[in-house]
Amino acid sequence: MPVVCGKCRSTKAEVQIPYARLNLCPTCFVDFFVARVKKTIEEFNMFHENVTVGVAVSGGKDSAALLHAMRQIYPGIKLVALHINLGIPRYSDHCQTKIEELTDMLHVKLHVFDLYETLGVKIGDFKKTSFKEKLCSVCGTIKRRIFEEMAMKTRVQVLATGHNLEDIAGIMFNNFLYGRWEQFVRVKPVLPPLAEGMASKVKPLIRSPGNENLLYCLYEGVPFREIDCPFSKGTGVRKSAEILETLARYNPYFKHQILNRFLEIMPLLENVKPKPSLGKCKVCGFPSSSETCAFCKRINLVKQLRKA
Ligand code: SF4
Ligand code: ZN
Repeated sequence: MPVVCGKCRSTKAEVQIPYARLNLCPTCFVDFFVARVKKTIEEFNMFHENVTVGVAVSGGKDSAALLHAMRQIYPGIKLVALHINLGIPRYSDHCQTKIEELTDMLHVKLHVFDLYETLGVKIGDFKKTSFKEKLCSVCGTIKRRIFEEMAMKTRVQVLATGHNLEDIAGIMFNNFLYGRWEQFVRVKPVLPPLAEGMASKVKPLIRSPGNENLLYCLYEGVPFREIDCPFSKGTGVRKSAEILETLARYNPYFKHQILNRFLEIMPLLENVKPKPSLGKCKVCGFPSSSETCAFCKRINLVKQLRKA
């Protein structure tokens, strides 16, 4: 006997939502997904409808699902897509093509920052520096800083990222294992602007598991990348994510519990270590807790190597 959708009770269910004990047909799943994104935006008061929202799109399923769902929820909002072409062979151009397809489909303006054209640097160049094979950490620092800059230049007041439930629960779990209490604030659902004129940062998919973002893309025909980044292997966060997945097999609600418990104690975690006061980077002028910001230090590493 086919399982019938638990919402409409008339169509065959295709999607199992184990943590909610729900089986849904494709139409009801899409409604369920979009409703949760909207509820999350409202729960954390992420933005009002009269602001310009920029969605940081990587080409992956999460940010693609986010941009598409945001367009459905807020058809009248000023929405732009921001993308960084990281100069990763084959991968970066493939991602950009998928994003162009998606933004054309949604009639959303796309802004692209080409790392090599603008700064003369590609992510692969960091292989020759002390980062060696650990390119995700340097890539993360570079992306965070460039998205801030792009948001300023495009007059985006709110920058939305596609961090999903596993990303956030994984980072929380990892920070907990290593006692990195001061790092917890980074995963807050809403981060205020670092300085005047900069964007606040929001994570509307914080309650959306990655496999549901994927299903949403498939059911809605949302284009997203079909190949993996060649530099993605073996990071610490990935190992914690595997541990989380194992635990979630025994308790489907486990990732949500991690997220909810840490969100509850976030105000306490924020005060474990005083926040460093922010000055300005002497090279780029962006807010920084040191004389030269982490971004400029890293870009300079590659430039120095070239000179040597
Ligand atoms: Fe950058 Fe790592 Fe993502 Fe590749 S997998 S795009 S190196 S963060
Ligand atoms: Zn700087």
